[in-house]
Amino acid sequence: MDHVETVRLHPPDPAQLIAWLERFNAAANWLSGVAFRERLWHWLPLQRRAYREVRERFQIPAAATVVVIRKVAYAYRNKQRRQHQATFRRRGAIPIYKHRYKRDGTVSMYGFRIPFTARPQAWLSSRHQAVLCYRRGKFILHQVVEVDVPPPAPVQDYLGCDLGTVNLLTDSEAEAYSGQAVEEKRRIYVHRRARLQKRGTRAARRKLRQISGRQGRYQRDVNHRIAKRVVAKAQRLCCGIALEDLRGIRDRIKARRRQRARLHNWAFGQLRQFIVYKAAKAGIPVVFVDPANTSRTCPVCGHVDKRNRRSQAAFSCRRCGHEEPADVIAARNVRAWARGDAPMVASARAATSPHPTSRG
Ligand SMILES: [Zn+2]
Repeated sequence: MDHVETVRLHPPDPAQLIAWLERFNAAANWLSGVAFRERLWHWLPLQRRAYREVRERFQIPAAATVVVIRKVAYAYRNKQRRQHQATFRRRGAIPIYKHRYKRDGTVSMYGFRIPFTARPQAWLSSRHQAVLCYRRGKFILHQVVEVDVPPPAPVQDYLGCDLGTVNLLTDSEAEAYSGQAVEEKRRIYVHRRARLQKRGTRAARRKLRQISGRQGRYQRDVNHRIAKRVVAKAQRLCCGIALEDLRGIRDRIKARRRQRARLHNWAFGQLRQFIVYKAAKAGIPVVFVDPANTSRTCPVCGHVDKRNRRSQAAFSCRRCGHEEPADVIAARNVRAWARGDAPMVASARAATSPHPTSRG
């Protein structure tokens, strides 16, 4: 399966690489204008029309010119995207092909030879494309590599997970994974965004983009850490991982309504993706259970009642009086159902491996 390795670049002359990045994006912006005005959506006509001009105007090598053309064509890949002229950030990320990681610790790309560092276990191969990013004074290459994954080990038990009822994640052992700190940070962001939106100036709009980028990166980082902890715990306990299947057909509307009440929707999609992905890499099976009634069934006596759920956070059984936090109840039910006490929806073995760089 695919895995993304982070490679830090240490260019001896960063200004030179920055200038190059800017030239690349300037070329893409110029070409985007040509493509839009002349309605050349595919790379081949675009290449015929502008290859020479791009090279001459922006002084970029042949290999990079081809990448600029592909990048622009990709930005106009469907009808919807052809409504407006595509623009690229001045120092936006660019794809890298035909690069080579050398034994002497340098990477060669587009005529540059740049020292790099990666984590010690990193297995680097330039068979697939990489993406060059420049952010806060650092150059990073995101390199896609293929890794062998062990077949999922047979398991008897599962770690049930509930996402986002009160905490970001609660497992069936009643362990909660950060909720409050993240929620506070989110509120601060929401507040600041609202203020900037009201102002509506150009500078405010730019700041707004910055903030949403920062928030996304923060959320992503939190999700990575939680997924890592959950997978490590399942590994330690020699069990699989059970999640609610929110794409389930049977209770889709109810599940969605429940989702809506949660902290922040897309973030949970991403967290689920990260868990599935990291589990697959570790050879830990993931199963999805039907989400119906996970939050209203008593794990002690089995009584199902909407009123068992006293509030968003509290569960109290109407029949036997059992009380526990609602998220722990949900996680326990997810585990019980994965063990076979209720029909399962699907196995994760067929699930696609989500790309960790894609924003879910
Ligand atoms: Zn009960």
